[in-house]
Amino acid sequence: MTHHWLIPWRNALMGNDPITRRHVFFVLLTLIPYVVTTGAIVQSAHMGLMRHNTALLLNLMSAGIFIGVFALVRSGWSRRFKDPVLTFPHALLGLCGCVLAYTQLGNQRGNVMILMAQTIVLSMLRLQPVQVLQLGLFNTALLACAVLGLSLSDPVHYPFSLGLTHFLVGGSTLLTLSLIGKWVSDIRMRIAHQAKELSEALHTVQQMATTDMLTGALNRRVMADLAEAELKLSERSGTAMCVALIDLDHFKHVNDQHGHHAGDLVLRTFTQSAQAQLRKVDKLARWGGEEFLLMLPHANEQDSLAALERLRHAMETLTFEGHAQLHVTMSAGIARPTPGESLEQVIERADIALYAAKRQGRNRCLLADGSPPPLLRQTPPAEVLP
Ligand code: GH3
Ligand code: MG
Ligand code: MG
Repeated sequence: MTHHWLIPWRNALMGNDPITRRHVFFVLLTLIPYVVTTGAIVQSAHMGLMRHNTALLLNLMSAGIFIGVFALVRSGWSRRFKDPVLTFPHALLGLCGCVLAYTQLGNQRGNVMILMAQTIVLSMLRLQPVQVLQLGLFNTALLACAVLGLSLSDPVHYPFSLGLTHFLVGGSTLLTLSLIGKWVSDIRMRIAHQAKELSEALHTVQQMATTDMLTGALNRRVMADLAEAELKLSERSGTAMCVALIDLDHFKHVNDQHGHHAGDLVLRTFTQSAQAQLRKVDKLARWGGEEFLLMLPHANEQDSLAALERLRHAMETLTFEGHAQLHVTMSAGIARPTPGESLEQVIERADIALYAAKRQGRNRCLLADGSPPPLLRQTPPAEVLP
Protein backbone atom coordinates (compact mmCIF):
# COMPACT_ATOMS: atom_id res chain seq x y z
CA MET A 1 0.00 0.00 0.00
CA THR A 2 1.31 3.42 -0.95
CA HIS A 3 1.30 6.10 1.75
CA HIS A 4 -0.85 9.18 1.00
CA TRP A 5 1.98 11.64 1.03
CA LEU A 6 3.95 9.49 -1.42
CA ILE A 7 1.24 9.42 -4.07
CA PRO A 8 1.93 12.86 -5.69
CA TRP A 9 5.65 12.02 -5.86
CA ARG A 10 4.99 8.59 -7.27
CA ASN A 11 2.59 9.99 -9.88
CA ALA A 12 5.04 12.74 -10.86
CA LEU A 13 7.75 10.15 -11.46
CA MET A 14 5.73 7.29 -12.88
CA GLY A 15 2.50 8.83 -14.20
CA ASN A 16 -1.15 8.85 -13.15
CA ASP A 17 -2.18 5.86 -15.17
CA PRO A 18 -1.59 2.50 -13.39
CA ILE A 19 -0.61 0.72 -16.62
CA THR A 20 2.05 3.33 -17.45
CA ARG A 21 3.24 3.11 -13.83
CA ARG A 22 3.71 -0.64 -14.15
CA HIS A 23 5.72 -0.15 -17.35
CA VAL A 24 7.83 2.62 -15.77
CA PHE A 25 8.46 0.37 -12.76
CA PHE A 26 10.21 -2.17 -14.99
CA VAL A 27 12.37 0.57 -16.52
CA LEU A 28 13.28 1.83 -13.04
CA LEU A 29 14.37 -1.69 -12.07
CA THR A 30 17.13 -1.44 -14.67
CA LEU A 31 18.51 1.57 -12.83
CA ILE A 32 20.49 -0.81 -10.58
CA PRO A 33 22.98 -1.98 -13.25
CA TYR A 34 23.23 1.62 -14.51
CA VAL A 35 24.25 2.89 -11.08
CA VAL A 36 26.76 0.04 -10.65
CA THR A 37 28.28 0.71 -14.09
CA THR A 38 28.59 4.42 -13.41
CA GLY A 39 30.30 3.66 -10.07
CA ALA A 40 32.74 1.24 -11.70
CA ILE A 41 33.57 3.72 -14.46
CA VAL A 42 34.12 6.59 -12.03
CA GLN A 43 36.34 4.42 -9.84
CA SER A 44 38.38 3.20 -12.82
CA ALA A 45 38.96 6.78 -13.92
CA HIS A 46 39.88 7.71 -10.35
CA MET A 47 42.42 4.86 -10.19
CA GLY A 48 43.94 6.01 -13.47
CA LEU A 49 42.87 2.89 -15.35
CA MET A 50 40.87 4.95 -17.78
CA ARG A 51 41.01 8.50 -19.11
CA HIS A 52 38.57 10.94 -17.51
CA ASN A 53 37.18 11.92 -20.91
CA THR A 54 36.45 8.29 -21.78
CA ALA A 55 34.77 7.80 -18.40
CA LEU A 56 32.62 10.89 -18.96
CA LEU A 57 31.67 9.72 -22.44
CA LEU A 58 30.73 6.24 -21.21
CA ASN A 59 28.66 7.66 -18.38
CA LEU A 60 26.90 10.13 -20.66
CA MET A 61 26.14 7.32 -23.07
CA SER A 62 24.63 5.08 -20.41
CA ALA A 63 22.66 8.01 -18.93
CA GLY A 64 21.42 8.79 -22.46
CA ILE A 65 20.18 5.23 -23.01
CA PHE A 66 18.39 5.13 -19.64
CA ILE A 67 16.80 8.60 -19.94
CA GLY A 68 15.76 7.91 -23.54
CA VAL A 69 14.02 4.63 -22.67
CA PHE A 70 12.48 6.15 -19.52
CA ALA A 71 11.07 9.10 -21.53
CA LEU A 72 9.58 6.86 -24.24
CA VAL A 73 7.90 4.62 -21.67
CA ARG A 74 6.84 7.37 -19.23
CA SER A 75 5.25 9.45 -22.03
CA GLY A 76 3.23 6.42 -23.14
CA TRP A 77 4.71 6.64 -26.65
CA SER A 78 6.05 3.09 -26.42
CA ARG A 79 2.51 1.71 -25.88
CA ARG A 80 2.18 1.27 -29.63
CA PHE A 81 4.58 -1.68 -29.42
CA LYS A 82 3.87 -5.23 -28.31
CA ASP A 83 6.25 -4.74 -25.40
CA PRO A 84 5.68 -1.17 -24.16
CA VAL A 85 8.59 -1.52 -21.71
CA LEU A 86 10.93 -1.78 -24.75
CA THR A 87 12.81 -4.60 -23.01
CA PHE A 88 14.48 -6.08 -26.10
CA PRO A 89 15.93 -2.88 -27.64
CA HIS A 90 16.81 -1.59 -24.16
CA ALA A 91 18.69 -4.79 -23.30
CA LEU A 92 20.47 -4.79 -26.69
CA LEU A 93 21.63 -1.19 -26.18
CA GLY A 94 22.59 -1.96 -22.57
CA LEU A 95 24.69 -4.95 -23.63
CA CYS A 96 26.41 -2.89 -26.37
CA GLY A 97 27.20 -0.30 -23.66
CA CYS A 98 28.53 -3.04 -21.36
CA VAL A 99 30.83 -4.46 -24.04
CA LEU A 100 32.06 -0.96 -24.86
CA ALA A 101 32.73 -0.37 -21.16
CA TYR A 102 34.53 -3.75 -21.05
CA THR A 103 36.99 -2.53 -23.70
CA GLN A 104 37.71 0.64 -21.71
CA LEU A 105 37.69 -0.40 -18.06
CA GLY A 106 41.20 -1.77 -17.67
CA ASN A 107 41.49 -4.40 -14.94
CA GLN A 108 38.02 -3.42 -13.63
CA ARG A 109 36.52 -5.04 -16.72
CA GLY A 110 35.64 -8.27 -14.89
CA ASN A 111 32.78 -6.35 -13.17
CA VAL A 112 31.14 -5.70 -16.50
CA MET A 113 30.54 -9.44 -16.91
CA ILE A 114 28.30 -9.31 -13.85
CA LEU A 115 26.37 -6.39 -15.35
CA MET A 116 25.82 -8.31 -18.57
CA ALA A 117 24.49 -11.21 -16.52
CA GLN A 118 22.18 -8.80 -14.62
CA THR A 119 20.84 -7.44 -17.89
CA ILE A 120 19.93 -10.93 -19.09
CA VAL A 121 18.36 -11.89 -15.76
CA LEU A 122 16.24 -8.70 -15.68
CA SER A 123 15.10 -9.09 -19.25
CA MET A 124 13.97 -12.70 -18.81
CA LEU A 125 11.12 -11.33 -16.69
CA ARG A 126 9.53 -9.78 -19.76
CA LEU A 127 10.95 -11.22 -22.97
CA GLN A 128 9.67 -14.02 -25.16
CA PRO A 129 11.73 -17.23 -24.66
CA VAL A 130 13.41 -16.96 -28.08
CA GLN A 131 14.35 -13.31 -27.43
CA VAL A 132 16.19 -14.27 -24.23
CA LEU A 133 18.22 -16.79 -26.24
CA GLN A 134 18.91 -14.22 -29.00
CA LEU A 135 20.11 -11.77 -26.37
CA GLY A 136 22.53 -14.34 -24.89
CA LEU A 137 23.94 -15.26 -28.32
CA PHE A 138 24.24 -11.60 -29.34
CA ASN A 139 26.05 -10.79 -26.12
CA THR A 140 28.47 -13.73 -26.46
CA ALA A 141 29.25 -12.78 -30.07
CA LEU A 142 29.82 -9.15 -29.09
CA LEU A 143 32.10 -10.24 -26.23
CA ALA A 144 34.10 -12.43 -28.64
CA CYS A 145 34.61 -9.42 -30.95
CA ALA A 146 35.73 -7.23 -28.02
CA VAL A 147 38.14 -9.91 -26.73
CA LEU A 148 39.66 -10.43 -30.19
CA GLY A 149 39.87 -6.68 -30.87
CA LEU A 150 41.57 -5.96 -27.53
CA SER A 151 44.08 -8.81 -27.74
CA LEU A 152 45.03 -7.82 -31.28
CA SER A 153 45.28 -4.07 -30.62
CA ASP A 154 46.91 -4.16 -27.15
CA PRO A 155 48.58 -7.57 -26.64
CA VAL A 156 50.88 -6.19 -23.88
CA HIS A 157 48.08 -5.18 -21.47
CA TYR A 158 45.57 -7.60 -22.78
CA PRO A 159 47.21 -10.89 -23.76
CA PHE A 160 45.20 -13.35 -25.78
CA SER A 161 45.23 -15.91 -22.95
CA LEU A 162 43.48 -13.40 -20.65
CA GLY A 163 40.95 -12.63 -23.35
CA LEU A 164 40.32 -16.33 -23.92
CA THR A 165 39.77 -16.94 -20.20
CA HIS A 166 37.33 -13.99 -20.04
CA PHE A 167 35.54 -15.19 -23.10
CA LEU A 168 35.24 -18.80 -21.87
CA VAL A 169 34.08 -17.83 -18.38
CA GLY A 170 31.93 -14.88 -19.47
CA GLY A 171 30.54 -16.42 -22.63
CA SER A 172 29.60 -19.73 -21.00
CA THR A 173 27.98 -17.90 -18.07
CA LEU A 174 25.98 -15.69 -20.42
CA LEU A 175 24.89 -18.63 -22.57
CA THR A 176 23.90 -20.70 -19.54
CA LEU A 177 21.98 -17.76 -18.14
CA SER A 178 20.17 -17.15 -21.38
CA LEU A 179 19.22 -20.84 -21.57
CA ILE A 180 17.86 -20.66 -18.01
CA GLY A 181 16.18 -17.38 -19.02
CA LYS A 182 14.50 -19.04 -21.98
CA TRP A 183 13.28 -21.82 -19.70
CA VAL A 184 11.94 -19.33 -17.10
CA SER A 185 10.34 -17.28 -19.84
CA ASP A 186 8.75 -20.44 -21.28
CA ILE A 187 7.23 -21.27 -17.89
CA ARG A 188 6.08 -17.67 -17.47
CA MET A 189 4.33 -17.69 -20.85
CA ARG A 190 2.74 -21.07 -20.17
CA ILE A 191 1.39 -19.90 -16.81
CA ALA A 192 0.04 -16.69 -18.38
CA HIS A 193 -1.60 -18.73 -21.15
CA GLN A 194 -3.12 -21.17 -18.66
CA ALA A 195 -4.40 -18.30 -16.49
CA LYS A 196 -6.10 -16.77 -19.55
CA GLU A 197 -7.64 -20.11 -20.53
CA LEU A 198 -8.79 -20.67 -16.97
CA SER A 199 -10.50 -17.30 -16.72
CA GLU A 200 -12.17 -17.86 -20.10
CA ALA A 201 -13.34 -21.28 -18.98
CA LEU A 202 -14.65 -19.79 -15.75
CA HIS A 203 -16.57 -17.18 -17.74
CA THR A 204 -18.07 -19.91 -19.96
CA VAL A 205 -19.02 -22.02 -16.94
CA GLN A 206 -20.66 -18.99 -15.32
CA GLN A 207 -22.56 -18.30 -18.56
CA MET A 208 -23.64 -21.93 -18.80
CA ALA A 209 -24.73 -22.01 -15.18
CA THR A 210 -26.83 -18.86 -15.41
CA THR A 211 -28.10 -18.53 -18.95
CA ASP A 212 -30.03 -20.52 -21.49
CA MET A 213 -27.61 -21.50 -24.26
CA LEU A 214 -30.03 -21.05 -27.16
CA THR A 215 -31.51 -17.66 -26.36
CA GLY A 216 -29.07 -16.06 -23.91
CA ALA A 217 -31.97 -15.37 -21.52
CA LEU A 218 -31.52 -16.38 -17.87
CA ASN A 219 -32.14 -20.02 -17.10
CA ARG A 220 -34.92 -21.34 -14.93
CA ARG A 221 -32.79 -22.04 -11.85
CA VAL A 222 -31.25 -18.55 -11.66
CA MET A 223 -34.60 -16.93 -12.33
CA ALA A 224 -36.24 -18.90 -9.53
CA ASP A 225 -33.56 -17.64 -7.10
CA LEU A 226 -33.81 -14.04 -8.33
CA ALA A 227 -37.59 -13.99 -8.23
CA GLU A 228 -37.66 -15.56 -4.77
CA ALA A 229 -35.28 -12.87 -3.46
CA GLU A 230 -37.23 -10.08 -5.18
CA LEU A 231 -40.51 -11.40 -3.78
CA LYS A 232 -39.12 -11.25 -0.22
CA LEU A 233 -37.72 -7.78 -0.80
CA SER A 234 -40.95 -6.46 -2.25
CA GLU A 235 -42.96 -7.90 0.63
CA ARG A 236 -40.63 -6.34 3.21
CA SER A 237 -40.37 -2.94 1.53
CA GLY A 238 -43.97 -2.83 0.30
CA THR A 239 -42.90 -1.99 -3.26
CA ALA A 240 -44.83 -3.47 -6.13
CA MET A 241 -43.57 -6.22 -8.41
CA CYS A 242 -45.12 -8.49 -11.03
CA VAL A 243 -44.28 -11.70 -12.79
CA ALA A 244 -45.47 -12.59 -16.26
CA LEU A 245 -45.54 -15.89 -18.13
CA ILE A 246 -45.10 -15.39 -21.85
CA ASP A 247 -45.80 -18.13 -24.38
CA LEU A 248 -45.32 -17.93 -28.13
CA ASP A 249 -48.50 -18.68 -30.06
CA HIS A 250 -48.83 -21.70 -32.34
CA PHE A 251 -45.15 -22.39 -32.04
CA LYS A 252 -45.56 -26.02 -33.00
CA HIS A 253 -46.92 -24.71 -36.27
CA VAL A 254 -43.79 -22.53 -36.75
CA ASN A 255 -41.60 -25.61 -36.38
CA ASP A 256 -43.80 -27.72 -38.63
CA GLN A 257 -44.07 -25.12 -41.40
CA HIS A 258 -40.63 -23.49 -41.32
CA GLY A 259 -38.42 -26.06 -39.64
CA HIS A 260 -36.78 -26.37 -36.24
CA HIS A 261 -34.03 -23.88 -37.18
CA ALA A 262 -36.62 -21.20 -37.88
CA GLY A 263 -38.20 -22.05 -34.51
CA ASP A 264 -34.84 -21.55 -32.79
CA LEU A 265 -34.36 -18.26 -34.64
CA VAL A 266 -37.77 -17.06 -33.44
CA LEU A 267 -36.83 -17.89 -29.84
CA ARG A 268 -33.54 -15.98 -30.13
CA THR A 269 -35.03 -13.00 -31.95
CA PHE A 270 -37.88 -12.73 -29.47
CA THR A 271 -35.41 -12.75 -26.55
CA GLN A 272 -33.24 -10.02 -28.11
CA SER A 273 -36.24 -7.87 -28.97
CA ALA A 274 -37.74 -8.26 -25.49
CA GLN A 275 -34.45 -7.55 -23.69
CA ALA A 276 -33.92 -4.43 -25.80
CA GLN A 277 -37.29 -3.07 -24.73
CA LEU A 278 -37.27 -3.96 -21.07
CA ARG A 279 -35.67 -2.01 -18.24
CA LYS A 280 -32.33 -3.18 -16.86
CA VAL A 281 -33.98 -4.34 -13.65
CA ASP A 282 -36.49 -6.53 -15.50
CA LYS A 283 -35.33 -10.11 -15.76
CA LEU A 284 -36.29 -12.46 -18.56
CA ALA A 285 -35.78 -16.21 -18.30
CA ARG A 286 -36.52 -19.13 -20.58
CA TRP A 287 -38.93 -21.07 -18.41
CA GLY A 288 -39.64 -23.96 -20.78
CA GLY A 289 -39.57 -24.72 -24.54
CA GLU A 290 -41.22 -21.57 -25.94
CA GLU A 291 -42.31 -20.18 -22.61
CA PHE A 292 -40.60 -17.29 -20.81
CA LEU A 293 -40.90 -15.90 -17.31
CA LEU A 294 -40.53 -12.16 -16.93
CA MET A 295 -39.96 -10.53 -13.56
CA LEU A 296 -40.73 -6.83 -13.27
CA PRO A 297 -39.51 -5.32 -9.98
CA HIS A 298 -40.88 -1.91 -8.88
CA ALA A 299 -43.76 -2.26 -11.31
CA ASN A 300 -47.48 -2.46 -10.53
CA GLU A 301 -50.12 -4.12 -12.74
CA GLN A 302 -50.47 -1.05 -14.94
CA ASP A 303 -46.74 -0.72 -15.53
CA SER A 304 -46.39 -4.43 -16.17
CA LEU A 305 -49.35 -4.61 -18.52
CA ALA A 306 -47.94 -1.65 -20.45
CA ALA A 307 -44.53 -3.33 -20.68
CA LEU A 308 -46.04 -6.62 -21.84
CA GLU A 309 -48.23 -4.83 -24.38
CA ARG A 310 -45.11 -3.18 -25.76
CA LEU A 311 -43.49 -6.60 -26.17
CA ARG A 312 -46.62 -8.01 -27.76
CA HIS A 313 -46.83 -5.15 -30.28
CA ALA A 314 -43.15 -5.50 -31.11
CA MET A 315 -43.61 -9.25 -31.56
CA GLU A 316 -46.40 -8.66 -34.08
CA THR A 317 -44.06 -6.70 -36.32
CA LEU A 318 -40.92 -8.76 -35.72
CA THR A 319 -39.29 -10.18 -38.85
CA PHE A 320 -36.98 -13.18 -39.01
CA GLU A 321 -33.92 -13.31 -41.20
CA GLY A 322 -34.45 -15.61 -44.16
CA HIS A 323 -38.14 -16.17 -43.37
CA ALA A 324 -39.95 -13.19 -44.83
CA GLN A 325 -43.37 -14.81 -44.53
CA LEU A 326 -42.98 -15.79 -40.89
CA HIS A 327 -44.94 -13.87 -38.25
CA VAL A 328 -45.31 -14.96 -34.68
CA THR A 329 -47.40 -13.59 -31.84
CA MET A 330 -47.24 -14.07 -28.10
CA SER A 331 -49.63 -14.34 -25.20
CA ALA A 332 -48.94 -13.46 -21.59
CA GLY A 333 -50.43 -13.82 -18.14
CA ILE A 334 -49.39 -11.27 -15.51
CA ALA A 335 -49.69 -11.63 -11.75
CA ARG A 336 -48.86 -9.34 -8.86
CA PRO A 337 -48.06 -11.20 -5.64
CA THR A 338 -50.55 -10.78 -2.84
CA PRO A 339 -49.24 -10.61 0.76
CA GLY A 340 -47.97 -13.99 1.98
CA GLU A 341 -48.18 -15.59 -1.43
CA SER A 342 -45.34 -17.92 -2.50
CA LEU A 343 -43.54 -17.62 -5.81
CA GLU A 344 -45.09 -20.88 -7.02
CA GLN A 345 -48.56 -19.53 -6.24
CA VAL A 346 -47.96 -16.24 -8.12
CA ILE A 347 -46.59 -18.10 -11.12
CA GLU A 348 -49.53 -20.47 -10.96
CA ARG A 349 -51.94 -17.49 -11.20
CA ALA A 350 -49.91 -16.01 -14.09
CA ASP A 351 -50.17 -19.41 -15.80
CA ILE A 352 -53.94 -19.49 -15.39
CA ALA A 353 -54.13 -15.97 -16.93
CA LEU A 354 -51.91 -17.15 -19.79
CA TYR A 355 -54.16 -20.12 -20.38
CA ALA A 356 -57.16 -17.77 -20.48
CA ALA A 357 -55.35 -15.52 -22.97
CA LYS A 358 -54.84 -18.58 -25.20
CA ARG A 359 -58.46 -19.58 -24.85
CA GLN A 360 -59.63 -16.09 -25.75
CA GLY A 361 -57.84 -16.24 -29.09
CA ARG A 362 -54.10 -15.67 -28.30
CA ASN A 363 -52.00 -12.57 -29.10
CA ARG A 364 -53.10 -10.88 -25.88
CA CYS A 365 -51.92 -10.11 -22.34
CA LEU A 366 -54.17 -10.73 -19.38
CA LEU A 367 -53.89 -9.84 -15.73
CA ALA A 368 -54.40 -12.75 -13.38
CA ASP A 369 -57.43 -13.06 -11.25
CA GLY A 370 -56.56 -12.02 -7.71
CA SER A 371 -54.21 -9.23 -8.78
CA PRO A 372 -55.67 -5.82 -7.93
CA PRO A 373 -57.31 -4.38 -11.09
CA PRO A 374 -55.31 -1.75 -13.01
CA LEU A 375 -56.24 1.92 -12.67
CA LEU A 376 -55.63 2.50 -16.33
CA ARG A 377 -56.63 -0.02 -18.94
CA GLN A 378 -54.38 -0.65 -21.88
CA THR A 379 -55.36 -0.73 -25.51
CA PRO A 380 -57.26 -3.87 -26.47
CA PRO A 381 -56.80 -6.79 -26.56
CA ALA A 382 -55.31 -6.39 -23.07
CA GLU A 383 -57.95 -7.12 -20.49
CA VAL A 384 -58.49 -8.45 -16.99
CA LEU A 385 -59.70 -11.97 -16.57
CA PRO A 386 -63.38 -12.18 -15.80
P1 GH3 B 1 -49.98 -22.45 -28.15
O1 GH3 B 1 -50.29 -21.28 -28.98
O2 GH3 B 1 -51.15 -23.05 -27.50
O3 GH3 B 1 -48.89 -22.17 -27.17
O4 GH3 B 1 -49.47 -23.57 -29.15
P2 GH3 B 1 -48.00 -24.04 -29.35
O5 GH3 B 1 -47.93 -24.77 -30.64
O6 GH3 B 1 -47.07 -22.91 -29.19
O7 GH3 B 1 -47.79 -24.97 -28.10
P3 GH3 B 1 -47.25 -26.42 -27.93
O8 GH3 B 1 -46.89 -26.53 -26.46
O9 GH3 B 1 -48.17 -27.44 -28.49
O10 GH3 B 1 -45.90 -26.47 -28.76
C1 GH3 B 1 -44.72 -25.94 -28.32
C2 GH3 B 1 -43.68 -26.35 -29.31
O11 GH3 B 1 -42.44 -25.71 -29.03
C3 GH3 B 1 -43.41 -27.81 -29.33
C4 GH3 B 1 -41.90 -27.93 -29.34
O12 GH3 B 1 -41.45 -28.74 -30.39
C5 GH3 B 1 -41.44 -26.55 -29.58
N1 GH3 B 1 -40.19 -26.26 -28.92
C6 GH3 B 1 -39.88 -26.39 -27.61
N2 GH3 B 1 -38.59 -26.05 -27.40
C7 GH3 B 1 -38.06 -25.71 -28.60
C8 GH3 B 1 -36.80 -25.28 -29.04
O13 GH3 B 1 -35.83 -25.13 -28.28
N3 GH3 B 1 -36.62 -25.02 -30.35
C9 GH3 B 1 -37.65 -25.17 -31.25
N4 GH3 B 1 -37.46 -24.89 -32.51
N5 GH3 B 1 -38.87 -25.57 -30.86
C10 GH3 B 1 -39.08 -25.85 -29.56
MG1 MG C 1 -46.97 -21.86 -27.39
MG1 MG D 1 -45.97 -23.63 -24.39
